[in-house]
Amino acid sequence: MAINIGRMTATPDVALTGQFTGSGTIYSPATGAVAGQVTWTDAADVPRIVAGLREAQKEWEARGAKGRAKVLARYAVWLGDHRDEIEKLLIAETGKSAMDAAQEVPLLLMILSYYIKTVEKAMAPDSRPAPLPFLSIKKIAVHYRPRPVVGIIAPWNYPVANAMMDAIGALAAGCAVLLKPSERTPLTAEVLLRGWLDSGAPEVFALAQGARAVSEAVIDNSDYIQFTGSSATGAKVMERAARRLTPVSLELGGKDPMIVLEDADVELAANAAVWGAMFNAGQTCVSVERVYALEPVYDQFVAAVVRAVQNLKMGTGQGYHFGAQIDGSQVAITERHVNEAVAAGAKALTGGKRPDGDGSFYPPTVLVDVDHSMSCMTEETFGPTLPIMKVSTVEEAVRLANDSPYGLSASVFSNDIERAKAVALQLDCGAVNVNDVISNLMCTTAPMGGWKTSGIGARFGGVDGVRKFCRQETVVVPRTNVGAGGNFYNNSEKALARMNKLMTKLSLIRPRRTAK
Ligand code: NAD
Repeated sequence: MAINIGRMTATPDVALTGQFTGSGTIYSPATGAVAGQVTWTDAADVPRIVAGLREAQKEWEARGAKGRAKVLARYAVWLGDHRDEIEKLLIAETGKSAMDAAQEVPLLLMILSYYIKTVEKAMAPDSRPAPLPFLSIKKIAVHYRPRPVVGIIAPWNYPVANAMMDAIGALAAGCAVLLKPSERTPLTAEVLLRGWLDSGAPEVFALAQGARAVSEAVIDNSDYIQFTGSSATGAKVMERAARRLTPVSLELGGKDPMIVLEDADVELAANAAVWGAMFNAGQTCVSVERVYALEPVYDQFVAAVVRAVQNLKMGTGQGYHFGAQIDGSQVAITERHVNEAVAAGAKALTGGKRPDGDGSFYPPTVLVDVDHSMSCMTEETFGPTLPIMKVSTVEEAVRLANDSPYGLSASVFSNDIERAKAVALQLDCGAVNVNDVISNLMCTTAPMGGWKTSGIGARFGGVDGVRKFCRQETVVVPRTNVGAGGNFYNNSEKALARMNKLMTKLSLIRPRRTAK
């Protein structure tokens, strides 16, 4: 089947038509050139693929953390050696600029390097202290045992990073991974799989290519679902997974605010805002979707933003700052948000109009005179727009930043770090960057997850990034046989009463002391 998911023409987006049988052709959304061919997976074939993974997973788990770290290390080296090939394909299938495409593999390598170092510690049984001294006759340990098959359902905006950043933790834990890439960007995943097998790794990583039907089959057959995508789809995934009580981790959409305080380094804030808003044509989950600038610095900030935006070059491949949007439907959302804002009284200081010609491009657009009656300030745009709102007080900025169904991340700019931190802790979201944007994504020792409709659970977070893919098994062994079975039926009622009296007395020592 020949399909066109890229061109900004009258061809319906294949993502909306839902026909994914046989093979398909993927076109560049920037040029319309053929990026490659994909063979779609038949949803009915997913149980067989999962059965194969389930079988291979046993040996993978048995290798132990150290053995798996070695394989992950070889994979990292392969990825490093094949950066050029991966980035070329990324550009071909997404229409990204070379500058944007160049960020994905290094991020993945950083995550791999961290988990190669961390996996042994993450998988080691965790011994726990006795909750109260009289229970120290027991030796308590928590073991981490991998969920056999983890289904990963990925979006299209970072076909390398988003597809693999969670797969690494799952594979490190000893799980097998079934990756369902976005139907808009299936090609890069094929290279990632080839790399896995070429590195001498076992067949514990497989792909299921397709859209909704295949995704649902992945949910129905996996033991855990790691989903990254929109909030609306996330809710459907959770509902489907609930049928088998399969646990989910959802990384969803956002409307990330930036707050620029009156004591901020305005140039730094402006450059951060422009990068955070335009990077990857604005198609980044943790980004800058809206700005609240305090009145005293508002004019200076807007002028600096406009200067920076005027220097940006839009186009695919080498020599450009950012590239195309993924398809016409994504451009249409951006265009709607801008047009609705302008119709309601906002001003577009740059861009603001879809260019003529082929390709899913939308120019970098700075909007002012915006407010929360406009979709550009309340709905996720996922396009190269930067709406900036003037606010009178920090309280107003915080209130507006929190006035959103989303809570993914945010940024605060101020030269007073303590003040910025105090503002950060009033924001209802999973992460706040002070005097920077997006950078929390690289801090793999800390969790990355959304509040409200931006998600459930988190990725990364040190050992938690591996342990989330495991089931916990508590094993309690006696340190001594003295007193064993004191509460069994074969003992006298008197002995039981004595024991309960003693337990009551000992357990009340702390409450009595604390209650005073
Ligand atoms: P999407 O929700 O449309 O699709 C995501 C995945 O879900 C795709 O693989 C798709 O095939 C699959 N899918 C679609 N309908 C489904 C259904 N009914 N049941 C099961 N699976 C289904 O998202 P998208 O457009 O690919 O990606 C953009 C969105 O992803 C944005 O909202 C963005 O903010 C979000 N995102 C979030 C993060 C994060 O870490 N929080 C990272 C990247 C992207």
